[in-house]
Order: sequence, then structure tokens, then C-alpha cells
Amino acid sequence: MRNAAGIDTSEPHSARVYDYILGGKTHFPADREAADDLRAAWPKLPTSMRINRATMHRMGRWLAAEEGITQFLDIGTGIPTEPNLHQIVQEITPASRVVYVDNDPLVLTHARALLASTPEGRTRYLEADLREPGGVFGSPELLETLDLSRPVGVTVIAMLQFVEDAAGLVRELTASLAPGSCLALTTATGDITPDEVTEMAQRYTDRGVPMYLRTRDEVVALFDGMELVEPGVVPMNRWRPDPGAPPVPDTDVNMYAGVGRVV
Ligand code: SAH
Repeated sequence: MRNAAGIDTSEPHSARVYDYILGGKTHFPADREAADDLRAAWPKLPTSMRINRATMHRMGRWLAAEEGITQFLDIGTGIPTEPNLHQIVQEITPASRVVYVDNDPLVLTHARALLASTPEGRTRYLEADLREPGGVFGSPELLETLDLSRPVGVTVIAMLQFVEDAAGLVRELTASLAPGSCLALTTATGDITPDEVTEMAQRYTDRGVPMYLRTRDEVVALFDGMELVEPGVVPMNRWRPDPGAPPVPDTDVNMYAGVGRVV
């Protein structure tokens, strides 16, 4: 059942479930019902989602400040939640360019928030499915905005758990990137609190949103052929925490984080 904007509101969708849990305004009853049930299975879910956003902020700052990357591709952007990636990286390098990609038509209706670039920089929004990387890398939006002969920071944050063949997809993604490019990702695991998180993933899957949990070894393998940046693949709270920040227990998160450099 799709409305005029091509949005099916009868089924939960990951972007809206996530927005509801983060306290946003873009969700329907099916999303709220699913979110409440997921949270009942694993009460730390809202905490983990907030830590996921904070991890994205640290990764973006690191890519901009330490790697000197000025062009970004964010895949599985989600409904805009401030600060968005361009706000993070343009604070460091105002001329940074960011292309956002998501396959939920509802995200597109909010794209204006993603397009409020600095005057020096540039942001674009592309509606595409990452499972068809040709549609991303061949798109005029991307080709007009990013110079693929130079390093690109690709962020795939809290998205790969919705993709069955994550390894194949990462291989295709990185094949289009110049050396010095980086892939930063967070993705879900059942390693830390297996019973609750496995139950949560099952509830999501039962509602038509298949969720694939991955072990640490499986996440490390996603970076095959790349140079893993320190500290490697770690529970996301441990990925370069801000100095002086209070420590977060691993049991507050269900995602690994890692950054690989294309060589
Ligand atoms: N990256 C954001 C949002 C994560 S929610 C954050 O971490 O805060 C996951 C997002 O991935 C949703 O917005 C969903 O629409 C998008 N998504 C899921 N499968 C996708 C696919 N195959 N191609 C593109 N986007 C996808």
C-alpha cells in the first residue's frame, strides 16, 4: 500500500523506526509498533542508536581532520538528524562536498535539511539502492559533485545490517574509489548481548525488515584488501572515543565500528 509519494506506511521501515527511537517526527503507526517491540526485546536500543550517531560524528571529524578528506559519500543517510554529516565535516573544512544516498522515498522529502551546505561546499541528495552500486556511481548527482580520481570518505552507518551480501556490496563500492579513500562503517552484531539482540533482530525480520547480525570476524572480513585503521573493528563506543569522555559499557551497544583505507 503506497501513497502518492511512493511511501508504504503499512509496513515498518528502518529509517522511520530509527527516527522514532531518536525522538524525531517522521514515522507512522507501523513504525512505532515495531520500534516499541524492538525496544522491549532489547531496552538499550535507544542508547545504542544515540551512541551510533555520536560514532558517526567522531568518524566524520576524523576523516576530515586527520585524513584530510574533503569529499564524502554517505550511504543509508536516514531521516535528517542534526548534526548531519555535512555539518560535521564542513565545520572542519567548509569547502567539503557531501553526497547523501538513501532508498526510502520519505528521506527524499526531507532532503532540504541535507542540502543546506556552506556556500563554499556542496551537498547533493540521491535516491538509490546501494544494492545497485552502478546507480550510485554512475549517477549525475555523484559525478557532478565528487571527483572519483581523488580520495572519498564513504560512510555506511547503521545500514549494512539490512543487507544480506554486505561483503559483495562493500567490494563493489570500494572498487570505484581512488587510493587514500576510506570506508567508515557501523553495523549490528549479536556478539555482545546475544540473547536480547538476536531476539530483537528476529522481531525486525518477522516484520519484513530482515536484520543480519554479524560477528566481529565477519565485520573484519568486510575490510579485506583494505588497510584497517587503528583501533580496528571494535564495539562502536571504543572507536576513538573523545578524550575525557566518560567510558560507555560495551553492553550499551550492539554495533561494531571500523574504518578501512583503500590502498
Ligand atoms: N545512517 C543513519 C541512518 C541509519 S538507518 C544513521 O546511522 O543515523 C538505515 C538507513 O539505511 C535507512 O534510512 C534506510 O532507508 C537505508 N537503507 C536501507 N537499505 C538500503 C539500501 N539497500 N540502499 C540505500 N539505503 C538503504
